[in-house]
Amino acid sequence: MMKIITIGNQKGGVAKTTTTMNLGVALQELGKKVLLIDLDPQASLSVYLNHNLNDKYTIDRLIDEFINDEVKNVEKYIKTSENDKIDYIPSKARLSALEKEMDTRYSREFILKEILENEYFKKYEYILIDTCPSLNILLTNALTCSTDIIIPVQSQFFTMDSLNLMLETITKIKKYVNSNLNILGILPTMVDNTNMSKEVIEYLKENYANKLLDTHISRLVEASESTAFKISLVKMNKRLGKQYTELANEILRKSH
Ligand code: ADP
Ligand code: MG
Repeated sequence: MMKIITIGNQKGGVAKTTTTMNLGVALQELGKKVLLIDLDPQASLSVYLNHNLNDKYTIDRLIDEFINDEVKNVEKYIKTSENDKIDYIPSKARLSALEKEMDTRYSREFILKEILENEYFKKYEYILIDTCPSLNILLTNALTCSTDIIIPVQSQFFTMDSLNLMLETITKIKKYVNSNLNILGILPTMVDNTNMSKEVIEYLKENYANKLLDTHISRLVEASESTAFKISLVKMNKRLGKQYTELANEILRKSH
């Protein structure tokens, strides 16, 4: 059965994009067929994947075609990254202009879900969706089509407000549009030896024990090196790469 996993948190800078890329590559290395979708108008995942930004077959155009009832061939929207050899659908800034158009459409929450029902996507076992740091129609679309969500939480600051907001959003999504949405887990990221980091982990253990993932991601500068080189931490064989492989194994255990 296909798993569609949203990597979501309304807060920016919590490692959503880093997690989407590296969990995706790690799952692929473990033999799974994986597709990444960049659903953030900032397109940082596309940049990380070394996408050619002049390419016109981006997610906004696919959504546009879908709204206008004229999607003929989804295949041309699927790219394969040169460095990590992973399949993805890129994004671009124009996606943010499309929000208004999506907002006024009937069944607006279901646009991405309907797109992904295309036969072509059946070959993937895992689809990972990178989302933007706001609660908008794009995030709602991601959550509506997803079987699961992973919520990265940056362990550097006290970010519990954003976590609670995300959990409230999930409750609403489950109530109104996607009762099957499963919280795969809360993922602590940028964990280090500071007291702040320890306090955040303690707080998560006390309050969300059953949702907290076993894998924690450390704070290491290699993360930004990986982004700069446009190669995943997994492929670069970095310490964080190993942690994301651990995470992939945990996800495989939990989703079967
Ligand atoms: P988001 O998509 O949630 O905005 P990003 O994945 O873009 O977050 O990460 C935000 C910043 O933090 C980036 O500069 C990234 O390189 C850095 N970063 C991500 N993960 C780590 C980590 N484990 N350790 C240190 N820096 C990290
Ligand atoms: Mg991002």
